[in-house]
Amino acid sequence: MTSTASRLRGFTSISDLRTALAAARSKRKSVALVPTMGALHEGHLRLIDRAREAADIVVMSIFVNPLQFGAGEDFSKYPRDLAADTQLAADRGVDILFAPDRKEMYPEEPLITVHSGHIGEVWEGESRPGHFEGVLTVVAKLFNIVEPDTAVFGQKDLQQLAVVRAMVRDLAFPIEIIAEPTVRDEDGLALSSRNRYLSPEDRAAARTLPRALSTMLERFNTGTPAAAAIESAGRDVLDTAKNLTCDYLAVIDPVNFQSVETAVAGCAAIGAVRVGKTRLIDNIIFT
Ligand code: AMP
Repeated sequence: MTSTASRLRGFTSISDLRTALAAARSKRKSVALVPTMGALHEGHLRLIDRAREAADIVVMSIFVNPLQFGAGEDFSKYPRDLAADTQLAADRGVDILFAPDRKEMYPEEPLITVHSGHIGEVWEGESRPGHFEGVLTVVAKLFNIVEPDTAVFGQKDLQQLAVVRAMVRDLAFPIEIIAEPTVRDEDGLALSSRNRYLSPEDRAAARTLPRALSTMLERFNTGTPAAAAIESAGRDVLDTAKNLTCDYLAVIDPVNFQSVETAVAGCAAIGAVRVGKTRLIDNIIFT
């Protein structure tokens, strides 16, 4: 166990963490979990704020989960800075930081994993086969380790939120899932640990993704319900960027992630693009 600030306690061992949480629970303390892969930014820190409102004890996990990265993806290059993250988490009021290494989480390649079903096979799931199976397996494991009353996720990863909600419902995890809105930079780009890979030119191109999504929302709000017309307006914006390829841009039902023909309030525009070697996702919910 390490201690870097007045309140934060850090754990790398599942059994030590369980002992600490059992002691808290015996005092009838409620627990909120914020699962992350680290390289913390303000988007992650807002999840901590929300977790603080929801429970007595805030647990943040930091684990770059190999299961959710495909071959050729950025697992080995994913930014890692546990010392800086620990300081940020402590300053924002995390009580317990759980940062296991790979051996602690997966002493063996897991034989049993959680399948995401059809919601996890489209869009991100199609572009990144096995991604959501990796996400759900680690989230289920973290839920079993921490046994939180609530867990807080960002709407930035809208499809992840949908598959986690489906898992909680279908496998009866007694956990309330809270979603927090996407935190953006001043230029509209959603905060992401991967933004640090972007050169200034890349960043200018990346900004067209939130612009495209805002244009789609505007189209919907000015009376165009046809998804094809909304999508085409978004694509026109993406087409203005150099050095950007669109993986997908679509209007979907955010519960089952199927495309819709006619948009209604509550639908979402989702998009994924590649800028240079960086892949970015974003979404906007129609209100
Ligand atoms: P990650 O570390 O990328 O796995 O993200 C951990 C959690 O932070 C997930 O629930 C994400 O949806 C959430 N998150 C990441 N970026 C943002 C953002 N810009 N705004 C709000 N939540 C975010």
